[in-house]
Amino acid sequence: MFDITIIGCGIIGAAVAYEFSKYELSVVVLEKENDVSMGATKANSAIIHAGFDPRPGSLMARLNVQGNMLARELFDVLDIPHKKCGALVLAFSQEEMQTLEKLLETGEANGVPGLSILSKNDVLKLEPNISDNIAGALSAPTTMIVSPWEYALALAEVAVVNGVKLYTETEVTNIQPVTNGYNIQTTKGEFATRYIINAAGLFSDDINNMINETKIEILPDIGEYFLLDKNEGTQVNQVIFQCPTPQGKGVLVAPTVHGNLIVGPSSVAVQSRNDTSNTQKGLDSVKTLAQKSVPGIDFRANIRNFSGIRAKSTVKDFIITKPNTGFVNLAGIASPGLSAAPAIAKMAVDMVSLDLKPKTNFIGTRKRVRFHDLSPQEISQNSAYGNIVCRCETVTEGEVYDALNSPIPPASVDGVKRRTTAGLGRCQGGFCAPRIVEILANWYKCCPTKILQEGVGTEILTSEMK
Ligand SMILES: Cc1cc2nc3c(=O)[nH]c(=O)nc-3n(C[C@H](O)[C@H](O)[C@H](O)COP(=O)(O)OP(=O)(O)OC[C@H]3O[C@@H](n4cnc5c(N)ncnc54)[C@H](O)[C@@H]3O)c2cc1C
Repeated sequence: MFDITIIGCGIIGAAVAYEFSKYELSVVVLEKENDVSMGATKANSAIIHAGFDPRPGSLMARLNVQGNMLARELFDVLDIPHKKCGALVLAFSQEEMQTLEKLLETGEANGVPGLSILSKNDVLKLEPNISDNIAGALSAPTTMIVSPWEYALALAEVAVVNGVKLYTETEVTNIQPVTNGYNIQTTKGEFATRYIINAAGLFSDDINNMINETKIEILPDIGEYFLLDKNEGTQVNQVIFQCPTPQGKGVLVAPTVHGNLIVGPSSVAVQSRNDTSNTQKGLDSVKTLAQKSVPGIDFRANIRNFSGIRAKSTVKDFIITKPNTGFVNLAGIASPGLSAAPAIAKMAVDMVSLDLKPKTNFIGTRKRVRFHDLSPQEISQNSAYGNIVCRCETVTEGEVYDALNSPIPPASVDGVKRRTTAGLGRCQGGFCAPRIVEILANWYKCCPTKILQEGVGTEILTSEMK
C-alpha cells in the first residue's frame, strides 16, 4: 500500500510530488497522458503573478503571493528558465486609473511588495511601444515569466530522483474505500493507498465525485493565444496587462523566456474539456484587444496559435479541502495556479496526518546542459553537443540524448520539445522533427511510424514509401 497517491501530473501534481519526496514516504503519481504537463500546465500565459488581483483573504491571494516567493528559490536550484521582468497594468481612462488604485490597495492587503502607480510619461519611458492613449499604469515588479512545462518537469524529475514512482498512461477510472485507505482502479491495474491527493485539473470534479458526498463542478473556460516570432519578442520588456474584468485578467502582451512574444488569452466558457481548437472569433478578439495596448505588433510574425482550458469552478477560489479521511482535493486550480503551485503543495503536505520524517539523502538540485552555456572545450569532449538538430533554437543532439537519459524520458516529439526547446522556434519543427523522429526510433528500437507527435494516437508517419 502506498502512503500517498497523487492523481494528475500537471504543475500541481508535480509540485506536490516534489514536496512529499522530501519525506520517508512511499509516493506514486498516476497520470493519464504519456507525459508530465499535458493539461492546462502546458498552455497558459506562463506568468508568475505578483498577487495584486485575487480577493484579500482568499486562498488564491495567500497562495499566489507565497508561491511567487517560493518559486524564486526553486527556479535557481532546479535550473528552471525564468525572467524576473515585472509587469504593468495599463489604464486607458481616469475611471481605469481608479481601478488601478483599487488593485494597489488589494495588492498591499495581499502583501505584494513594491507596487506603485506610474504616470503616462514614466510608462512610455519604460515601454516605448505601448499605446500613447494610456493614462498611467500599475507597476508590479515581482511578476515573473517562466517556462511552465519545464517548471512542472523539473519538480517531477526531482521527485522521481528521490524515489517517487510516476506512472504515465494510467487513467484513474474508479475509487473504492478500504480499511485505512482507498483502492484506486486505473487503466493499468489497481493501486492501494492511504491518502489520495486529487490534482486532476479539469477532471478534478470527476475524481472527487467518484467517492465524496460533497460534489464539485468544474466549469471549463478556454483561452486562445498567438505566439510570435523572436523578431517581435522585444516589443515589450515587461508583462503588459490591461485592467481586469469580471471575466479575468484580460488580454496580455508579454515576452516569453525563450525570446518570443505571447499575446492572449481570450476567456470563453465551453462545454468540452478536451477540445483546444483555435477559432477565428477568439483570435480576432485577442488581436484587437492586444493592439489597444501595443498597436505596432506585427501579427504576420505569428508562428503558432494555441489554447488552454481553465478549470474554473462554481467557487470563485481554489478548492483545497479534505472531504473525507485520507482524501485531499486540490481542485478548481484556475489562474493563478501556476504561480501558487509550490505554496499549494506545502499546504497539501500540512493536510495529511502522517509521520513526516525528512529524508537525510534528499537530492534537491537539478541542472540541464544547454548548448549556449557550453565552452568550446566542453563541446570538443562530447561531439554530440556540437551536432545541431534544431537550427531555430540551436539545440544539439547531445541535449536530445540528455532528455532521453533523464529521470522522465520523453515519449514523443513534443516531449523532446518540452525538455530541450527543439521545435519551439520559427519553423516549428519543420527542420528538426524528422531528425528527432529518427533519434527516438533508434533509441526506443521501434519503426519511425510508431513515433508520436504528442499524445497516444498522434503518429506522424503512416507507412514506409520505399
Ligand atoms: C488560458 C490559461 C491561462 C493561464 N495563465 C496563467 C498564468 O499566467 N499564471 C498562472 O499562475 N496560472 C495561469 N493559468 C492557470 C494554470 O495554468 C493552472 O492553474 C495550472 O496549470 C493547473 O495545474 P493542474 O496541475 O491543476 O492542472 P493540469 O495541468 O490540467 O494537470 C492535471 C493533470 O491531471 C491529469 N488527469 C486528469 N484526469 C485524470 C485521471 N482520471 N487519471 C489520471 N490523470 C488524470 C491530466 O492529464 C493532467 O495532466 C492559466 C490557465 C489557462 C488555461
